[in-house]
Amino acid sequence: MSTQNSRFPDVLIIGGGVIGCSIAYHLTKRGCRNVVVVERNTIGSGSTAKAAGGFRQQFSYETNVRLAMYSINFFEHFHERLELPPDAEGVDFHQIGYLFLLSTPEAFTTFERSAALQQRLGLPVEVLTPEQVGSRWPWLSVHDLVGATYCPTDGYGRPHNVMQAFATQAQRLGASFVEGAEVSAITRKAARIMTVETNQGSFSPGSVIICAGPWSGELGRLAGVEIPVQPLRRMCFVTDPFDAIPQDAPMTIEMPNTFHFRPEGAGFMLGTSDQDEPYGFHTTMRWEWLERVMEDAAKRVPVLEQAKIHHGWAGLYETSPDHNAILGPIPGVENLLVATGFSGHGVMQSPATGMIMSEFILDGKAHTLDVSDLGIERFSTGRLHPENHVI
Ligand SMILES: Cc1cc2nc3c(=O)[nH]c(=O)nc-3n(C[C@H](O)[C@H](O)[C@H](O)COP(=O)(O)OP(=O)(O)OC[C@H]3O[C@@H](n4cnc5c(N)ncnc54)[C@H](O)[C@@H]3O)c2cc1C
Repeated sequence: MSTQNSRFPDVLIIGGGVIGCSIAYHLTKRGCRNVVVVERNTIGSGSTAKAAGGFRQQFSYETNVRLAMYSINFFEHFHERLELPPDAEGVDFHQIGYLFLLSTPEAFTTFERSAALQQRLGLPVEVLTPEQVGSRWPWLSVHDLVGATYCPTDGYGRPHNVMQAFATQAQRLGASFVEGAEVSAITRKAARIMTVETNQGSFSPGSVIICAGPWSGELGRLAGVEIPVQPLRRMCFVTDPFDAIPQDAPMTIEMPNTFHFRPEGAGFMLGTSDQDEPYGFHTTMRWEWLERVMEDAAKRVPVLEQAKIHHGWAGLYETSPDHNAILGPIPGVENLLVATGFSGHGVMQSPATGMIMSEFILDGKAHTLDVSDLGIERFSTGRLHPENHVI
């Protein structure tokens, strides 16, 4: 995707992943047409290309539940909200629900408390006994579970389609996308960004938004600010076609060990997060980890032992210290903002994030949702808000 671009954009967005594309869409939709997105590769080629597509609202931190509820509603009405033609690829949202299986008393207590919060906010979340789980989803081994929570309006969709729809509509409304444009320098005059240098020339923007996923820390350093985001490898494995479990089985996640699986095509996608994975830009596939995943699978879903793995991939989470997004202006630099740190939840939070960031730019503050607790200043004041439901 390449379009005519202004060297003096009102807003320059660094990073053409699902977040940058959503912000570009929401800005242009609200009439801010002089928007340029610079992307060093092709749009959607970063973490967005590696996402598993899970969309859920079962979080422990209230702001995350609210961000997710806004976004799930957006995904439910994706075609209308984005004014897509009927034959356009949509989000392909499979609302099969998310089932959290809780195998320790501590995990159960945490999720039970979160379920009360989610119910208060209007989500149809159920707290289930192991017996209820076993009778509804008989392929699961439940003998050692303490309980479970289930939300039927969670599910999964297609990250690439979400990103592409935002980008296409943003471009239609006037945004420019410059691919192959790597930001190499950001010059400041006192408290203001003056220029952003790329290998495709220099830009003098009104405002700059850093949304470079796992690379956001590097962009921050170019601008002389610290953005505390760490890259963290995560892997997905996909089976051959497999019909021993129904295709409307929920996205199922066991906590605390993080083994998870959901339908994918005619097979299933599965994984377990390696809690000892060190931070770093490591994206090679660790095939030896599959043995651990299949052990977890055999224990929780015995029939999955018969499944054959067809392929897998590795990508990077953009992890913040409290596993929450970092959204809004960067204090001390009057025209610099950030939208990153989603810690594995960026696709599902992209609709709300695009809306909120457009409000920061056009209205001076976010008002659709209160995200004042997600500002970057929380890391210097020490007011962190840990999100507990992370895999
Ligand atoms: C295995 C895996 C599974 C996941 N599963 C889920 C899931 O189920 N649900 C969910 O919501 N999320 C999931 N995620 C997380 C999700 O992928 C991210 O949160 C989301 O894609 C972040 O989008 P982004 O636009 O911020 O970053 P990215 O998509 O990484 O986009 C950032 C862009 O910035 C560009 N860039 C970097 N440096 C520069 C530079 N110097 N100049 C110009 N451009 C630059 C990059 O090329 C990149 O395209 C998963 C991630 C992984 C790895």
